[in-house]
Amino acid sequence: MGSKLSVDKSVQVVIVGGGFAGIAAAYKLKSNGIPFILVDIKDSFHHNVAALRASVESGFAGKTFISYKDSYQDSFIQGRVKGINLQKQTVVLEHSEEIHFSHLIIATGSDGPFPGKYNQAATRDTAIQIYEDLVKEVQKAKHVVVVGGGSAGVEMAAEVKTEYPEKEVTLIHSKVPLADVELQPCVRRTIKEILLKKGVKLVLGQRVSNLNEMTLNVVKENMELHLDKDPEVITADLILCCTGIKINSSCYIEAFGDKVASNGALKVNDHLQVEGYNNIYAVGDCADVKEPKMAYHASMHAKIAVTNIINSLMEKPLKTYKTGSVSMLLSMGRNDGVGQVNGIYVGRFFVTIAKSKDVFVSNSWKEMGQKMPK
Ligand SMILES: Cc1cc2nc3c(=O)[nH]c(=O)nc-3n(C[C@H](O)[C@H](O)[C@H](O)COP(=O)(O)OP(=O)(O)OC[C@H]3O[C@@H](n4cnc5c(N)ncnc54)[C@H](O)[C@@H]3O)c2cc1C
Repeated sequence: MGSKLSVDKSVQVVIVGGGFAGIAAAYKLKSNGIPFILVDIKDSFHHNVAALRASVESGFAGKTFISYKDSYQDSFIQGRVKGINLQKQTVVLEHSEEIHFSHLIIATGSDGPFPGKYNQAATRDTAIQIYEDLVKEVQKAKHVVVVGGGSAGVEMAAEVKTEYPEKEVTLIHSKVPLADVELQPCVRRTIKEILLKKGVKLVLGQRVSNLNEMTLNVVKENMELHLDKDPEVITADLILCCTGIKINSSCYIEAFGDKVASNGALKVNDHLQVEGYNNIYAVGDCADVKEPKMAYHASMHAKIAVTNIINSLMEKPLKTYKTGSVSMLLSMGRNDGVGQVNGIYVGRFFVTIAKSKDVFVSNSWKEMGQKMPK
């Protein structure tokens, strides 16, 4: 822990959202002895970067949910923030309870389909059980279809096929190149090669036209998926959806009006302050910063925001956030990986060490001052 600052009694930082950005902010505030309240819908941090592994391997989900209370005790409140009262400088919870802030860090991140995301007002035990239930469905299934070939979808298909090579796995993607546009062509090609080598069937440049009629995440025999450009019908008994990540803007959209970009993110200046407000910061996926939405960037934002809160209290100049270069590691199942770091291609060995061996997950347990369960 760093040296504690002596701050005025009126200082109370409120962090809305305990994802990668929120826990990094909480860690730095705690280290500096600055009073804070962290609010999240769930009772535990979800390491969603490892959510897809937790969907195929029994026993893994317990490592991906870390109790906030055990880390932050009374500095954590479980609840959904439904609004921000800028006049009163409060955040308003679901049952109209208000929490006063001197400084506010908005870190509400993004939401998307389970299993990549799990943003429910559930207990840790319930959340873990829901992933364990999905593992059982994957184990029962004969033909798994993954819809969406962005970074989450390619990882999902690879995780299923690595863990259960005997299962038929099909990945359907609306575009022809796989994974994120920010990745170099050679990385995207390697991703495709890995999937094909593992035996994943690829259906590219096609959208599923009847996805909203399908049952997701539960085995159901002979589900028929229709494609928009091809008369071929794909039959599956388990469908996993990995598309449609959206920014969680509901709690601030009313308060900030024109400070909200068209995708729902909050417009920020170089210090990550919401435009026009010097005591309100937006960090992580919900900050309108032109860079890929990543856990690594989210925690970098949080560190800058907390440094700037400290600097403003000490009347020092504020720090500027420089957009990160694209570093992305994709875990293509436990024994494979690919990615790029600072624009340089990195292959299997590095990624397997960095990602597939639980290093990322154990770092979060350390950051939250707890020991990862075996
Ligand atoms: C399957 C998958 C794999 C990924 N893999 C990687 C990877 O390998 N590397 C990488 O860098 N990034 C990866 N990402 C991206 C990464 O997960 C996100 O960029 C990161 O989670 C953003 O962190 P965040 O703190 O901004 O938001 P989030 O992680 O989305 O957290 C937001 C938090 O806010 C809470 N919240 C939301 N609204 C409210 C409200 N109104 N009141 C109270 N609480 C609220 C939510 O419950 C949640 O805990 C992956 C994403 C997915 C989906």
